[in-house]
Amino acid sequence: MRQIRRAAVIGSGVMGAQIAAHLANVGIPSLLLDLVPHELTADEQKKGLSLDHPAVRNRLATEAIRRLHKLSPAPLFRADYAKLITPGNLEDDLHRISEVDWVIEVIVESLEPKRQLLERIEQHWHEGMIVSTNTSGISINAMLEGRSEAFRRHFLGTHFFNPPRYMKLLEVIPGRDTDPAIVEFMRDFGTERLGKGVVLAKDTPNFIANRIGTYGLLVTVEEMQKGGFSVEEVDAITGPALGRPKSATFRTLDLVGIDTFVHVANNVRENVADPEEQRAFVVPEAIQKLVERGWLGEKSGQGFYKRVKQNGQRQILVLDLDTLEYREQKKITSSALEASKQARGAAGKAKALIQGRDKYAELAWNIVKRVLVYSAEKLGEIADTIQDIDAAMRWGFNWDLGPFELWDALGLVETAERMRAEGLQLPQWVEDWIAAGHRAFYEEADGKLTMPVSGKPEPVRVPAGVVDLAALKKAGKVIAQNSGASLIDLGDGVACLEFHSQNNAIGPDILAMIEKSVAIAEKDFAGLVVAN
Ligand code: NAD
Repeated sequence: MRQIRRAAVIGSGVMGAQIAAHLANVGIPSLLLDLVPHELTADEQKKGLSLDHPAVRNRLATEAIRRLHKLSPAPLFRADYAKLITPGNLEDDLHRISEVDWVIEVIVESLEPKRQLLERIEQHWHEGMIVSTNTSGISINAMLEGRSEAFRRHFLGTHFFNPPRYMKLLEVIPGRDTDPAIVEFMRDFGTERLGKGVVLAKDTPNFIANRIGTYGLLVTVEEMQKGGFSVEEVDAITGPALGRPKSATFRTLDLVGIDTFVHVANNVRENVADPEEQRAFVVPEAIQKLVERGWLGEKSGQGFYKRVKQNGQRQILVLDLDTLEYREQKKITSSALEASKQARGAAGKAKALIQGRDKYAELAWNIVKRVLVYSAEKLGEIADTIQDIDAAMRWGFNWDLGPFELWDALGLVETAERMRAEGLQLPQWVEDWIAAGHRAFYEEADGKLTMPVSGKPEPVRVPAGVVDLAALKKAGKVIAQNSGASLIDLGDGVACLEFHSQNNAIGPDILAMIEKSVAIAEKDFAGLVVAN
């Protein structure tokens, strides 16, 4: 049985240190290695240390571990878990990776250093050791040039999102020669041990979430400029009203870093072959100017928004993209936005917004339709299933609904008709799916959820270790039930008490079910969990 007992994380920057922290959170000790510094700090000089002192040579990783305690949200579940991370450096300690089961490369985003590092890692590699990269966009296969076949079989991409403890998404990207058993292992390990939502991505520029997400952001800016909308108007439309996070479009960019966004867009543009797609990934001039000015978002104190204190009052000003000047935010009134606010659930909200009858509804539709079509066009190229694309957007961008889930919510057939009427060309597989009589991408058959795979409905994948209460209920595993809660047999002698009242409010129904469940569990079960 393959197991990961110890790991090595190479690169102790923003991501590396936090990935080591997350491994510590799940009880996996790791070595954290980085470069050897070439100069002494003032503090080291004062202490009389020389460049060959271990404290100096391990400084980057040691400092990175210390910084973990200052980050918010906290990367470590408990501060003392930091002792599971051993700092070291790439000159004195690289040989120690022979003691670990998994090496994850998290160094600078540049092909040549990554390639050279993998060459050095291979010198200490042993059969069975998994090696992966956290690259956001560099080709896995290109990185492997010069490596042995055995090494290539054990290598893959494991792309965490920042912050890795909190962002649910883990994109697993097999290389051309990765052993399928290792891909499967990483998928289960990522889900069950690391607690991530794992999707399988293909070795294409920026993989799934960043490819679709960046396209969506660029389309948003394009539609915004076409329609003469402001930054705050776009954020009002592309946040919870559309089933997306409050940070919507421009707050998200400020949080992620506008330079990072430009880097991803450029990487896709430089690495895709289709001229139309290259054009779609050209960064608008206004955004390029922000990067030139160093207005990168939160980390530089200003981006699309800027916090100021005026007359003793805190205020958030917004950037005018035409003049590049900050001004006060304007209030927005929109019947479509209002309808969305009144509607329930992400699907209801998005539908109410898009089916509204004002310019904001039109803006939402113009953005959404292009993202839906692009996602459908990329199926097969960036991922094999719509489930992987939907999950990547939910877990990587915190959307409530992935593109195909949103399309279903809006009505597959009606939405396709409107798209065609407006001159959009739908991918052939979508046309064929509709022509075959399907009314949705996700459909239920025999109590199982299915999705289109090569033109046929196939069951969606249920991740390892995930309990699906809805499926258990359908399978007749409900032991007791009232309008507030259900007691469900999970198997293995464990029962689950599930609350399902409105907003999980605890009323007499739930109280009654708690008493009943405890009595049943004491008699018939080894354990009882409360969950939903
Ligand atoms: P970073 O700049 O914070 O850290 C990179 C670390 O690598 C530094 O500690 C640096 O000393 C070390 N390093 C640089 N050159 C090296 C070399 N030649 N050999 C060994 N070590 C070297 O970068 P980061 O943001 O942590 O990103 C690391 C990787 O993770 C990149 O591939 C990046 O694309 C990817 N990634 C980043 C994010 C993010 O949000 N920052 C998210 C997902 C993936």
